[in-house]
Amino acid sequence: MNRKEMKALIKKARKLAEPFRVTDDKFRLKDIDPADTLEFTSEDKPLAKEAIATGIELLAELQDMLYAQDNWAVLLIFQAMDAAGKDGVIKHVMSGVNPQGCQVYSFKTPTSEDLDHDYMWRCVRRIPERGRIGIFNRSYYEETLVVRVHKELLEKQKIPPELVTKGIWEERFQDIRTFERYLSRNGVCIRKFFLHVSKKEQKKRFLERIEEPEKNWKFSANDTWERKYWDDYMEAYEDMIRNTATKTAPWYVVPADNKWFTRVVVAAAVIGVLDNLDLKYPKVSDSKLKELAAAKNGLLAGK
Ligand code: ATP
Ligand code: MG
Repeated sequence: MNRKEMKALIKKARKLAEPFRVTDDKFRLKDIDPADTLEFTSEDKPLAKEAIATGIELLAELQDMLYAQDNWAVLLIFQAMDAAGKDGVIKHVMSGVNPQGCQVYSFKTPTSEDLDHDYMWRCVRRIPERGRIGIFNRSYYEETLVVRVHKELLEKQKIPPELVTKGIWEERFQDIRTFERYLSRNGVCIRKFFLHVSKKEQKKRFLERIEEPEKNWKFSANDTWERKYWDDYMEAYEDMIRNTATKTAPWYVVPADNKWFTRVVVAAAVIGVLDNLDLKYPKVSDSKLKELAAAKNGLLAGK
């Protein structure tokens, strides 16, 4: 891909992801239709697949520069209801990048060791190194989602009772905002994705998991149980996004009823963030250039 093609693609990517970016507290979940595909129709699906392929090529080039420059780290956080397609997005969008430059971590139910610490503890240890793209498949945001919907989980956290007040969610939002600002100021660039699937589409995907033998392994009866709390989750998501969307660490609320569309939007957003960093291969010093020339002469003169 030459410079001009790269620039044109970056411009397109920015435009595509823009409508889904949230940077302030005005957000309303009902403004985002999970089935939205902008001006594209399902006939554009093959085109979208092509766009993702070119996007992935571009992403790989940008990531190579990120790695070589070794200053910034990028943290991509994925949150969603079950079967919204987190795993598929991560697999597809990152498929072209060098595995050495990428660190994926899935946060599951906390272990007893995790519960012996503050909730950020297990996440802090997984913040990507400089030059790397880190991916959180779920994250500390679960502390304002599943833990808020199922308050009994909060009791298991062994927090001194006098600290567990009505204001705890607001306090968590505050702490998360501060934590993310701290990371940003240290060169960790954060982008957060909520893959917004509809309740109807989730049902369809669960049924597929039950009916297709090769998808059986993905099905957990507990997932269908969680559907009872759908409205509570949506409320928690909306409040979380309103309270933690900032200019430095925005949320992308991505329609997730059509997997091809979700993937294009996420790829576009990731391209956008890497481009923001104005990545360049490190410039080699004069003395290094002399060293290279001498080495070349040596090689050419020898056998
Ligand atoms: P899949 O899409 O393959 O089902 P998953 O991300 O749902 O992947 P699971 O092992 O099914 O992985 O679920 C992880 C579970 O851990 C989720 O139900 C999530 O709510 C829960 N979890 C994650 N973080 C926390 C937390 N801090 N406190 C309590 N539960 C958590
Ligand atoms: Mg699950």
